Amino acid sequence: MLRLASHSFGVSAGGLRILVDTGIGNGKQRANPAWHGLRTGYLDRLAEAGFAPESVDLVVLTHLHTDHVGWNTRMDGGTWVPTFPHARYLTSRVEREFWAGCAMDEPRRQMFRDSVLPVEDAGQLDLVDVPADGTEVAPGVRLVPTPGHTPGHVAVRLDSGGQTALITGDCVHHPVQVPRPDITSCADVDPALAESTRRDLLTSLAGTGTLVLGTHFPPPTAGQVVVDDEGLRWVPIGS
Ligand SMILES: [Zn+2]
Repeated sequence: MLRLASHSFGVSAGGLRILVDTGIGNGKQRANPAWHGLRTGYLDRLAEAGFAPESVDLVVLTHLHTDHVGWNTRMDGGTWVPTFPHARYLTSRVEREFWAGCAMDEPRRQMFRDSVLPVEDAGQLDLVDVPADGTEVAPGVRLVPTPGHTPGHVAVRLDSGGQTALITGDCVHHPVQVPRPDITSCADVDPALAESTRRDLLTSLAGTGTLVLGTHFPPPTAGQVVVDDEGLRWVPIGS
């Protein structure tokens, strides 16, 4: 049994307030009972952390899965409206176009209706072309293509003051995949590509001192990838 968490990350960069992924959301009709009709204090906690909804400039979506887009919207007067009224929401063009061309089942259509389309209808969703070496979307904030979990999946690299952090999104779901990148998630659209992407990414991070932030890693959520005689290893930081 592996425990997973669902994180949003708040980042300040170049005077912009940026959120990376928006979790599961409140009041959403979901097939998964653990995600259905939640009433969490997410927005209060976000505001306490200095990210009041009106103050958020950019929302980066690593991919368009239910547990990453939930707080894109909130219920207001019986309709779903963008939670972050002044923000541009970003996702990769490949990601949006993949789902547009995909025969979605009803639960996924429901998720698009309540969490993606309202943002598009409000004109707040921007589709980003992400070349192989990534693209900068704010000072020191770079989308890194990491396909496999979904075709347009991106990780997010942060550079500041000579230090680097990387938000994994779902190219890595759990620390057990650091020594064992071959362990795949049942949600991976292309498991073989997901594995090679994960292996390449983790290998590139090993020994670099990069602070790795696992979008689904339960606390401690941060750590570093090191390499020793036995291969890749996860060294958690904090508690
Ligand atoms: Zn996920």
